[in-house]
Amino acid sequence: MVGCGALGTHAADALTRAGIGELWLVDRDVVEWSNLQRQVLFTEADAAAGTPKAVAAAARLQEVNREVRVSAFVDECSAAFLDRLPARPDLVLDGTDNFPTRYLLNDWCHRHSVPWIYAGAVGAEGAAMVVPPTGPCLRCLWPEPPDATSAGNCETVGILAPAIAAVSAYQVAEALKLLVGSPDVQRGVFTCDVWRGHYARMPLLSLASPECVVCAKGEYPALLAPAPLAATLCGRDAVQIDPGGHSALDLEALALRLGSAVQDLRRTPHLLRFAVEGTIFSVFPGGRALLFGVRDPLRARALYDRWVGRNA
Ligand SMILES: [Zn+2]
Repeated sequence: MVGCGALGTHAADALTRAGIGELWLVDRDVVEWSNLQRQVLFTEADAAAGTPKAVAAAARLQEVNREVRVSAFVDECSAAFLDRLPARPDLVLDGTDNFPTRYLLNDWCHRHSVPWIYAGAVGAEGAAMVVPPTGPCLRCLWPEPPDATSAGNCETVGILAPAIAAVSAYQVAEALKLLVGSPDVQRGVFTCDVWRGHYARMPLLSLASPECVVCAKGEYPALLAPAPLAATLCGRDAVQIDPGGHSALDLEALALRLGSAVQDLRRTPHLLRFAVEGTIFSVFPGGRALLFGVRDPLRARALYDRWVGRNA
């Protein structure tokens, strides 16, 4: 499960209760108060502690069904991350909120012959699609990312929780069918609008596009694209800084160095958290950091360099 937000927590909950065997949760983010409206595995205690979403979700899921083997990966889902996975997954579920990561999943899954299920929701609307290794793939449908400004996105319109539930129901049903090898897996694009009461499946895609760079040309652009150093998180006053690689940033040494120069300095088992210059930092082992209270990637990089530093 890539992404433990609204979609990811709904689907992970249903799959764990179904007893799917083994589940790997990947998420780069920490729990915030505003998540509790729709991200069903988290509690007020998780938000107060700023627990990483993958860790909080895994803990909750183990309480639900301890026979399912649940692993939490607190990391950016990059091509390098996927290549470091301990084994090839049987199925990948999209719980992300952005198209760059979906294209990455699309390209990686096609290359490694892993089926995946796209899912997305915004406002009262949602969509989902099974992407078999033979295609058609996400790039067949959208060679370029859909224009976020025309349809609205989580920056501008938010998400209605029932839209998440509707899309998640479709995604989980198809996941269970794929995992048991059922011939009833549905092709095409499921769409819904829970406000207007529209539910449909467009059986448009029977064949991969002859123009598709992935299906037709065997190229994987997303696996070659460098991961951005700074990325704004959708719908939030937050920026992620990911210096890449796995430099051995020593959180204990950083905490000692920051000392009383910052406020609310707190070391948890998973991260170092502190506030300074109107920004709340969550710094993970390896140097990746989330900066809350800032939207401008350039300002976030300047703050990161000042308070964390690449060679700290
Ligand atoms: Zn394709």
